[in-house]
Amino acid sequence: MNIIRLKDDIWVYSFDSDESADLTTLGDGIRNSANFDANIMAIIDNDNALLIDSSIQKYAYQVKNDLKEKGITVKSIIFSHFHTDHIEGRVIFQDAHFYGYEKYEDNFKRSRSSENTENFVRFTLLKNGDKIKFGHHHIKVFNLPGHTAESLITIIDRQFLHIGDLLIMNNAGKYYLPLVGIEQDSLENYIESLKKLQEYSFSTVILGHGPVLMGKNQINESIERNLYYLTKLKEIGANAEISNCVKGNLDEYIHVNEYHQQNLNNITKHYN
Ligand SMILES: [Zn+2]
Repeated sequence: MNIIRLKDDIWVYSFDSDESADLTTLGDGIRNSANFDANIMAIIDNDNALLIDSSIQKYAYQVKNDLKEKGITVKSIIFSHFHTDHIEGRVIFQDAHFYGYEKYEDNFKRSRSSENTENFVRFTLLKNGDKIKFGHHHIKVFNLPGHTAESLITIIDRQFLHIGDLLIMNNAGKYYLPLVGIEQDSLENYIESLKKLQEYSFSTVILGHGPVLMGKNQINESIERNLYYLTKLKEIGANAEISNCVKGNLDEYIHVNEYHQQNLNNITKHYN
């Protein structure tokens, strides 16, 4: 676990993946969560913290303990979306207030075992453009769908932008292909969302997985690669070969065949 301090009171807890985990569980929105490098963002106000995402339980537990040692309690969590690898850690923070975007229910159901009928105790459903005041911090959220219907981006103090899994990387700086959601229109929505992302002018962007992106060049490069892939996928459709869809070298990417296949499966559902 590394703590990246963007400011005195804005941190990113960064975790390296378990390389031994495999991708065999890759399926309908359910993935092997331990396989990803992962981030939990912490926004601090005196003795209180608001997190963005809770990641998986073993990472959430480490964050809770580190904050506790510093005398800080987690009061709230904004979920960037409701895939297992972003919400599983919530059970470590039962007393916190949770926030998520509408249409979250499908992925929330998918992330649980069938016998688990848990509902959130303290939960606020966010709308596009909603503001959250957390101590002296100003937080604003927008829905940019495509990876999931409920995907949120979060602007913190007009300075930092958290984008969930809109762009995915590993800590070594390799790119994942964008993972298109299983909902109808996900591909088109994803392309639109990335175009909107290009219009923002933040110089620090925090991902759900991978390094904090610093500077316009690094951010734009990553967006362009994702847009290029998705646009090709839309043009060519279900027969798209990976070599025709990727900007740059294939060895700059990770798990490229698995993700491409997953995307083909997801978009093919909507052709039939
Ligand atoms: Zn994720």
